[in-house]
Amino acid sequence: MSKSPVKYIFVTGGVTSSLGKGIISASLGKLLTARGYSVTIQKLDPYINVDPGTMNPYEHGECYVTDDGAETDLDLGHYERFLNHSTSQANNVTTGRIYQTVIQKERKGDYLGKTVQIIPHITDEIKRRIQLLGNTGKYDFVITEIGGTVGDIEALPYIEAVRQLKWEQEDTTLFIHLTLIPYLAAAGELKTKPTQHSVKTLLEAGVQPDVLVCRTEHPIGSEIKRKIARFCNVELDAVIESMDVSTIYEVPLLMQKEGLDKVVLRKLGLEDNAEVKLEQWCDFLEKLQNPEKEITIGLVGKYVELQDAYKSITESIIHAGTENACKVKVNWIHAEEINSNNVSSKFAGLSGILVAPGFGDRGIEGKIIAIQYVRANNIPFFGICLGMQLAVIEFARNILGHTDASSTEMNEQTSTPVINLMDKQKEVTEKGGTMRLGAYDCLLTKDSNAYNSYKNLNIQERHRHRYEFNNNYKNELKKAGMIATGINTENNLVEIVEIPSHPWFVGVQFHPEYKSTVVNPHPLFCGFIKACVKNKK
Ligand code: GLN
Repeated sequence: MSKSPVKYIFVTGGVTSSLGKGIISASLGKLLTARGYSVTIQKLDPYINVDPGTMNPYEHGECYVTDDGAETDLDLGHYERFLNHSTSQANNVTTGRIYQTVIQKERKGDYLGKTVQIIPHITDEIKRRIQLLGNTGKYDFVITEIGGTVGDIEALPYIEAVRQLKWEQEDTTLFIHLTLIPYLAAAGELKTKPTQHSVKTLLEAGVQPDVLVCRTEHPIGSEIKRKIARFCNVELDAVIESMDVSTIYEVPLLMQKEGLDKVVLRKLGLEDNAEVKLEQWCDFLEKLQNPEKEITIGLVGKYVELQDAYKSITESIIHAGTENACKVKVNWIHAEEINSNNVSSKFAGLSGILVAPGFGDRGIEGKIIAIQYVRANNIPFFGICLGMQLAVIEFARNILGHTDASSTEMNEQTSTPVINLMDKQKEVTEKGGTMRLGAYDCLLTKDSNAYNSYKNLNIQERHRHRYEFNNNYKNELKKAGMIATGINTENNLVEIVEIPSHPWFVGVQFHPEYKSTVVNPHPLFCGFIKACVKNKK
């Protein structure tokens, strides 16, 4: 099928941010893969940071990590969860990275005495990055989502670059513009003017959208569709209604119903004769929407006001709940608000507790109290990255009696550094992209909860940390009942700890949440939710 040249689809956004370009891109990608095409999705981010790794989650939400160790935008998580296909550094490009490359080339003298300018040097570098994925020969489609909103100063070089691409290869490029049709309650009317204006802004930049996807809270109806088509020079069936739905996992089916995939194929001159295979997706959705049981678990973190900060974790919980035919409600608990007097009332009615990843010392004492409580009360516990490190600290303090036990991240002077800086981190001076990042092998111990979840001895998981379990304490912890059940044998690093005498107490140094997808819910999340169901309060 993939003999015809790779097709490039660009997704822009108008009127306002947060309309869900990532979900629309992922949904279109899903519909195309369901027809047998090979698809990858890329995000262009208009900020000047080289990657989002140095940004606070309050600024940017979760930082998503790929197998090859790139710190990327959380939309890449949606792409992987929908397409069940790994992304890489090439799937996320920022203005910072573009400029960094161009400036490095300038310093090397690659521009041969020329003045280096936005057009053509920056735009050429943007075009090169877009085509990098297409040129691998692996894909029939590259969907490129352009971050921000049309009209933003920051996004101008990107729009200019894709305008040039369209000019250079008319037959293989397509523009989808995602826009908002607001409803004015007082007038009782849906309004198309903001969409007309945002399309005008695109036209000023030389781009005519081929398809308009219209986010709306109410059905837009054929009259309004016709009006939009007329004012914006798009065909009537290329005006796609995108109503609000209860779960993002419904969007591919909604887009299929609206004919988004058909319009895209037609406009790119492709046959519309393949069978659309969505059975697995529909089964998932059916199970998600008809749970047999319900539980509530607690998620202890420090960014609970901003749920995007834990996006992959909450999606992994949805996948694992569905696999267990269970609706899982998540109670967000602020770590800084937990103390030994209120922990039992805060956790009343919760069937399990997940302690989130994190950096720095804010909220860690609350997390340690949470872990002590669930350990002592046989409540299923899942600790991720910092959550695992704090489980080791809690055990060392309260079972081994090392009251000063800590991580050198929080207390450099601790007499008992059960968690300390990794050797390879000791020479590191720069912050960006320098953690232990990406996928590493891990060997599991038979009969552990981890092994029973994965049903495999050799696994690979993604990491994002600087500190690690201190092997000097491994035997002492083991004798007292906390064992290492997952090891990276190459560097002798402890990746998983468990307490076998507890019903389900698992701490992992890696981030399993980055690998959970609709088709492959993550084994550890499934194991954790299963234990929570068993413990239902
Ligand atoms: N701050 C810890 C470290 O760097 C944990 C990081 C995390 O939770 N991702 O090792």
